[in-house]
Amino acid sequence: MSHFSRSYAEARQTFLDAARAAGAALAQFPHPTRRGSAGEELAIDVALAGAPEAGRCIMVTSGTHGAEGFAGSGAQAALLHDAALLADCAAADACLLLVHAVNPYGFSHLRRVNEDNVDLNRNFMDFSQPLPHNAAYAEIAPLLLPSQWPPSEADQARLMKTVAERGMAWYQAAVSSGQYQDPAGMFYGGDKATWSNYTLCRILARFGAGRAALRWIDIHTGLGPWGYGEPIHMGPDTPASVTRTRAIWGERVTSIYDGSSTSANLTGLAWHAVPQTLPAVDYAGIALEFGTLPVGEVLDALRGDHWLHRHPEADENQRALVRQAMWRAFYGDADDWRDGVVAQVSDAVRSTIASA
Ligand SMILES: [Zn+2]
Repeated sequence: MSHFSRSYAEARQTFLDAARAAGAALAQFPHPTRRGSAGEELAIDVALAGAPEAGRCIMVTSGTHGAEGFAGSGAQAALLHDAALLADCAAADACLLLVHAVNPYGFSHLRRVNEDNVDLNRNFMDFSQPLPHNAAYAEIAPLLLPSQWPPSEADQARLMKTVAERGMAWYQAAVSSGQYQDPAGMFYGGDKATWSNYTLCRILARFGAGRAALRWIDIHTGLGPWGYGEPIHMGPDTPASVTRTRAIWGERVTSIYDGSSTSANLTGLAWHAVPQTLPAVDYAGIALEFGTLPVGEVLDALRGDHWLHRHPEADENQRALVRQAMWRAFYGDADDWRDGVVAQVSDAVRSTIASA
């Protein structure tokens, strides 16, 4: 039986059905103002499987980056159908907290960003403080989002020349590390906490309060080799935190702080919600990042998506091409890829049970 879906509405229904079948407690956080691409309701749905008073909480989140949610949603439904795993969690005094579609607007509209064009995983900043200025993004922005799409050969050649001169790692960091200066640009971190940000904090406070330990697996797609789930340390930049995370999920856990990850160093990551809301909890977390296409193709899909955001006059043909590129960039539409996602997410949950 497939747990994977081809639309947000279908994914939501599959998740809710699986949660009810597993006897999980459900809570829904409907979006207050926005609707989905087919006019459907948007919500963050939460399923709690296992004893509500368990001392340990294993949280698995999908769709922090909207369109990346198809992988995480399928994995969450598979976890709910895995009776042996749920029994093992219960025996280890752990409950499973599944948060479905942290960014439901992007999930439904096939965007990585949310309803405010904000990258939720750059949005957990202290907005009372001055925000960082991404000079490399400012340099490259005019080449990323040219006046026409697809770009003219001359525009593309100018971008390729810059990438060749500065290197692919510089390009990836310039674009993806996060910027707070162009609200209509790419990887924009926002100027205040978004709805998904404060709703996630509410969920953490409501379901995490009083627990001794929280483990968090946040499922992403779009970076790294096809089907490989790279566990990326998600916590403070301290040796103790990285060591602790590797003790749970293994030595292959990478870090954005030491250059071992396929991801660039980033600002405003979602894990900041944990110390904000549960300062005393014993916390460790990873992003599980599943590879799809080469990074250049993924960035091109995102360029098209942002170009479309800035060009509402685009015709239906152009929209369809951009959506198709986004689907391919953030979902491995093949059985080996889907099976691998389920197996690796389930392994990551089992690792949290096995460790203290
Ligand atoms: Zn992501």
